[in-house]
Amino acid sequence: MAPPTSIRQNPFKPVSLSFEASSIPWSKQGFYLDQRPSFTFDPLFHAGTYYVQEASSQLLEPILSACTDLTQPLRVLDLCAAPGGKSTHLLSLLSENSLLVSNEVIRSRAGILQDNLDKWGCFNVVVTQEDPSVLGRVKGFFDVIVVDAPCSGSGLFRKDPEAMTHWNPAAVEHCSGRQKRILKDIWPALKEGGSLIYSTCSYSQQEDEEVVHWILSSFDAALQLPDLSSSWGITHTEMGFRCWPHLMKGEGFFISAIKKKSAEAPLSSRNRVEVGKLSASQQQTLSEWWQPVGITWLEGTEGLWAFPSSLLPELSVLSAICRPIRTGTLLGAWSRNDIIPDHALALSRYPHPSIPRLELDRAESIRYLQRGTLDRPELRKGWHLATHLGQSMGWIKSLGNRLNNCYPKHLRILRQSVG
Ligand code: SAM
Repeated sequence: MAPPTSIRQNPFKPVSLSFEASSIPWSKQGFYLDQRPSFTFDPLFHAGTYYVQEASSQLLEPILSACTDLTQPLRVLDLCAAPGGKSTHLLSLLSENSLLVSNEVIRSRAGILQDNLDKWGCFNVVVTQEDPSVLGRVKGFFDVIVVDAPCSGSGLFRKDPEAMTHWNPAAVEHCSGRQKRILKDIWPALKEGGSLIYSTCSYSQQEDEEVVHWILSSFDAALQLPDLSSSWGITHTEMGFRCWPHLMKGEGFFISAIKKKSAEAPLSSRNRVEVGKLSASQQQTLSEWWQPVGITWLEGTEGLWAFPSSLLPELSVLSAICRPIRTGTLLGAWSRNDIIPDHALALSRYPHPSIPRLELDRAESIRYLQRGTLDRPELRKGWHLATHLGQSMGWIKSLGNRLNNCYPKHLRILRQSVG
C-alpha cells in the first residue's frame, strides 16, 4: 500500500482546502489528501497556510492535550526541532501567552527550522541552536519537553525504501545510547509535575520501549498515557503507543509521555534582556508596520525583533545560559528613519492591515515565488505584500517604473514547471 499523504492546516491562516481531503481523527487541523499534489507549485504552501506532515507524527496532539492544560500559559521546549513539524504543531495548540523554545543542534537544519517557523507566523517562539546539555542548565524551567529523538528511521522504510540499505543493528545500538544521553542531559530542565513527550520513527524496542523503561528506572518519573480511541488502529504497548502502517493510516512511529515527580531547584536569573530604546518617531514608524499587540522591540545584529512583553522574564532566564538565534519575529532593519521589512514580517500574523497588498493570481504567484519579474506599472510607490487568495507570500517594492521582487533567494522555486 502506498504511504498516505497528509497535511496540517495553520489555524492562524485559515483558507479553504483546494484538495480532496478527509480528517485525521486525532488531529483537529490534520487531513489526509486523496492524491499527492505538487506542493512546490502551490502558493498557499509557501504562504504557510499548511505544513506537510505525516499523520502518525500528529499523534503529538492527543498526547499533549491529555498531559497538560493547554489553556494555561506554558513553557514548552521542542528539543530536536528541525525541520519544524512538531514545533509548528505546538504553536497551533499552545495558548498565546505560552512560550515555545524550538531547538536544533545542527546549524544547517536550524536555518530550515527558522524558515518554517517564519511561515507559521507566530512570535511567541525562541529558537536556539544548543546541545541538550546546555539547555539542561535551566533547571525546573519547562512545563513540557518534547524529544522527537534522532533515530535509526526504520519507521520510514515504506516511504523511503533506500533507507533500508543504511540500516543495521549497530546503528540502532548507537541511536539508543544517544537517545539516553539526550534525555539524561535535558531531564533537569523539566519542572516537577511537568511532562516529557518522547517519540521516534523507529520500530526498534531498544529505541522505544527500552528507552522509556530506562527513564522510569533512572529518574523519579511515571508514565502518563491517555486512552486513545481503539478505532484509530494505534497499538498501546506497556511503555507507549506504536503506529504500524499495516494497522493504521500512517507511517511507523512511537510516542510516549512521562511525568516528572520530583522537584529541581529552579535556576534563578538576574540577567536582564536588552530592550531596544526607540525614539518617538521610530515608535511611530513601527506602528505603521506592525499591529500593536503587547510587544517589546529587541535590537539584534540582524535587525529589530518583535517579542511578547509578557515573556521577557522567560527570555532573560534563557539568555543567562545561551544566546538564542531568534527571539520572536524579525521585523526588519532600520534604514535612516524607516524600516526595510524582513520576510518574516510579511509571513507573520501581525503585519499592519494598512500595508498595501498586491493580489496575484496563481500563475503570477508562481512567477513571484520563482523571483521572476512582474509587471504592474500602475502600482503606487513603496512596499506591498504580495498575496494569493488573501494570504501573504512576501514583499514587493514598487519603484514607480518597475517592481522589485523581494522574495528571499534561498526560498525561491527553482523548477520551471510542474512536470
Ligand atoms: N521534530 C522534528 C519535526 O517534527 O519536524 C524532527 C526531528 S528529527 C526526528 C531529529 C532531530 O534531532 C534532527 O533535526 C537532528 O538534527 C537532531 N539531532 C541530532 N543529534 C542530536 C543531538 N545529539 N541532540 C539533539 N538533537 C539532535
